[in-house]
Amino acid sequence: MTVPRAEVDVAEPRELSSGRKPVSGREGRGFVSLNGNLVESQSASVSVFDHGLLYGDGVFDTMFASDGQIFRLADHLDRFRRSLRAIRLALPIPEGRLESEVLRTAAANGLRDAYIKVVATRGVSVEPLLDPRDCSPTLIVFARPYLSLADPSRQEQGITAKLTSIRRIGLPALDPRIKSLDYLNLVLGKLEAIAAGADEALLLDGEGLVCEAPGYNVFVVRAGEVLTPDRSILEGVTRATVLELCALLGIPARPGPVAPYDVLTADEVFLTSTAGGLVPVVQVEGARIGDGKPGPVLRRIDDAYRELQRSGRYGTPIPDLEPTGAARPSPR
Ligand code: PMP
Repeated sequence: MTVPRAEVDVAEPRELSSGRKPVSGREGRGFVSLNGNLVESQSASVSVFDHGLLYGDGVFDTMFASDGQIFRLADHLDRFRRSLRAIRLALPIPEGRLESEVLRTAAANGLRDAYIKVVATRGVSVEPLLDPRDCSPTLIVFARPYLSLADPSRQEQGITAKLTSIRRIGLPALDPRIKSLDYLNLVLGKLEAIAAGADEALLLDGEGLVCEAPGYNVFVVRAGEVLTPDRSILEGVTRATVLELCALLGIPARPGPVAPYDVLTADEVFLTSTAGGLVPVVQVEGARIGDGKPGPVLRRIDDAYRELQRSGRYGTPIPDLEPTGAARPSPR
């Protein structure tokens, strides 16, 4: 069968309704790794019959590079491999080549500060039906100039959030530890928050406990103690880093159940993600959190997080991009 190809990644910069500025310049150019081959972004294409597109049948992971080093690359790739295993998907390249493929793609794009994604889909079958047995998988790796989920101008003063009516899909339907391509649930949460005039959505799980924001883990601070949801979540790499940093800084921190009550009565609330780092939430449901400004506990952890990135301790150098010791540009 001749498989029609659909172009990806050729959009021209334009005004964005999110209010953020488009990343201008080379983003339509550069290189993408497709099934282990580097191809120019503008000619990289996947089939319109790919199960990732037709059924959300695939998994992904997102990481970032700062000053020429990919932060916690091994942790991201471990999570990606666990997602692959959980959906019984084999890569079209040997798993052992994954790390070098990410580094090769990052190097080919020459970006010191990058947003990097690996995406594996079930791929294309003989007929575009749901049965996955005859599919040949697709693997995409791309690197773009660094992107933050939060609008950087809003991140400085803190964002607003809404506890949405839409719930996060979780067990027993789909384990949220799988970073699957099915993010519709989270996109609908985001739309609900935007329609209510808030920047971000806080989603509850089936039990009514707070679990995540779209693309973020959630933290609350109460009486000096840091608490993060312990269930119905993706196991965030940034979340794990924050818990490690709290231990180093002597700040009591633990995973546990987080109810809407804990958010609404918190001294501080913040979100964590690879794309954006630590993002203060200063208003929930129209009510101020603490004094309505990013709080001191967040500031301490955020400074330590930036310092950890600068130290290169968890950094894997991208070949041909020597670190300069400069920090990634930040809104602060
Ligand atoms: N939850 C969800 C649903 C996400 O998509 C992400 C972003 N990967 C996170 C949490 C935060 O995870 P990380 O810190 O690894 O980026």
